[in-house]
Amino acid sequence: MSEYEQSSAEPVVVIGAGPVGLAAAAHLVERGITPVVLEAGFGPGAAIREWGHVRVFSPWRFNIDAAARRLLEAEGWSAPNAAHLPTGDELVDDYLKPLAELPRLAPHVHFDTRVVAVARHGIDKTRTVGRDGRPYLVRTRTGAGEYRDVVARAVIDASGTWGKSNPLGAHGLPAPGEAEASSYMAGALPDILGADRERFAGRHALVVGMGHSAANALLALADLAEVAPGTRITWVVRGRSAARLYGGGDADALPERGKLGTRVKQLVADGRLTLIKNFTIDRFEPATDGPLAVVGRSGDEPVKLDVDVVVAATGFRPDVDMLREVRLDLDPAVEAPSQLAPLIDPNFHSCGTVPPHGERVLAHPDEGFYVAGMKSYGRAPTFLMATGYEQVRSIVAAIAGDREAADEVHLELPETGVCSSSPTVEDADGNVTFAEASGGCGTGDEGSSCGTAAAPRGLTTGVLHGYSGEGATLPVVQEAAPAGGCCGGEPATV
Ligand SMILES: Cc1cc2nc3c(=O)[nH]c(=O)nc-3n(C[C@H](O)[C@H](O)[C@H](O)COP(=O)(O)OP(=O)(O)OC[C@H]3O[C@@H](n4cnc5c(N)ncnc54)[C@H](O)[C@@H]3O)c2cc1C
Repeated sequence: MSEYEQSSAEPVVVIGAGPVGLAAAAHLVERGITPVVLEAGFGPGAAIREWGHVRVFSPWRFNIDAAARRLLEAEGWSAPNAAHLPTGDELVDDYLKPLAELPRLAPHVHFDTRVVAVARHGIDKTRTVGRDGRPYLVRTRTGAGEYRDVVARAVIDASGTWGKSNPLGAHGLPAPGEAEASSYMAGALPDILGADRERFAGRHALVVGMGHSAANALLALADLAEVAPGTRITWVVRGRSAARLYGGGDADALPERGKLGTRVKQLVADGRLTLIKNFTIDRFEPATDGPLAVVGRSGDEPVKLDVDVVVAATGFRPDVDMLREVRLDLDPAVEAPSQLAPLIDPNFHSCGTVPPHGERVLAHPDEGFYVAGMKSYGRAPTFLMATGYEQVRSIVAAIAGDREAADEVHLELPETGVCSSSPTVEDADGNVTFAEASGGCGTGDEGSSCGTAAAPRGLTTGVLHGYSGEGATLPVVQEAAPAGGCCGGEPATV
């Protein structure tokens, strides 16, 4: 009987064998605690595999967890060139796969095992008496449909957000017809120049969204259009400006990431794609045989687009359904742990900065339960692996009872001072300037703070993630609350 089936052992369950889940397992093993890693996919880094053709923008030196490195090097592994930018596939093949195969980890990693629910063992969420100190029950379902329960002393949910895309419709809701149009949807990061080429060659592709995934798709489509006649590209964005994606450039601490926006801006300027700003999708009208009608508006102007394939690069949201029985303290807007949310809130944050944070910031009312990694950022888009590695180092130290190590949080990323949450101005050519100098909102060491002198920490993107940077004023539906917190008093913007 494996330790997975032998539930009385009360190990620490880690949900997800992505970079952060496996890093958590490495830290647990180093501290002599048995992990049970439960992964829905068939191998490590299953989510990353889905965008394996894409090159990341942080070099290897930021992508390897310290405990994972120690375990790997002890078995003769050599780290890849620290300055090289790996593709998603390289991240898995050269790091996550060898890590998951280490003799000290492999027996504890279970693939094809999806966590469907987490609860306190023996009681439901409403029961307070006798709750503290009770183990967790983690319910899993295999691909073959078999259910198994694992009892754990603590749970680290590092299941990412890749599996749950934001809908394409307005209001944060799927548009009527969106589910029925699923056969036209190509995901957030299709392999346009590789495995998915035939879906796009000679077709009309619609790209929805304004993040790095959209930029990657647009650049690949433009390359395809050079060699595949008839390939057309329409790019729709909700905001009145594409500045948030163009941003970056030379101001980006990760140069490859900065170049993405600059190249997309050039494509628009050269007329190689059609950009429609201020676009809202009202409904989809799928055809039985033929293009998909996307019916919407650009401002007040009705627009109907007939497209063959849709790249839905609208970002992701966390799956909190499986955590319904756990007492969580999540921010109602960002869906991140409530102490972390103000530090990363996309309404105000323009960059990948975040103050170092660990177990105390990530704790929930149900002690011993943590959301870490990409999922800990909820709906905020600026997560970096290195942040997750520090999160799980601190969480595991706390689980091991090493309070001092848990509280000594540090994030080994370059200090930068360029991230700004100032509103921006975009000229007719799409050139972006900051409207005013800013000390940065909520990026100081002490957390949310407007105009503090503390230099933000982390990797500036130079890309204006902060919605407040886009400059498009929302229709006023009620009086704004009086200015008070960080950056209060600004008109709401999208
Ligand atoms: C195109 C792209 C480029 C990026 N570039 C960078 C970069 O340059 N630098 C950087 O630091 N970050 C980058 N990121 C962000 C990066 O994806 C994350 O930092 C990293 O993958 C997050 O790791 P994670 O372990 O938290 O989540 P994930 O990598 O998403 O791993 C979560 C795992 O959990 C599994 N899972 C999900 N649900 C369940 C469940 N219910 N039960 C069991 N298992 C489950 C998934 O299959 C997956 O294997 C990029 C992301 C994208 C999409």
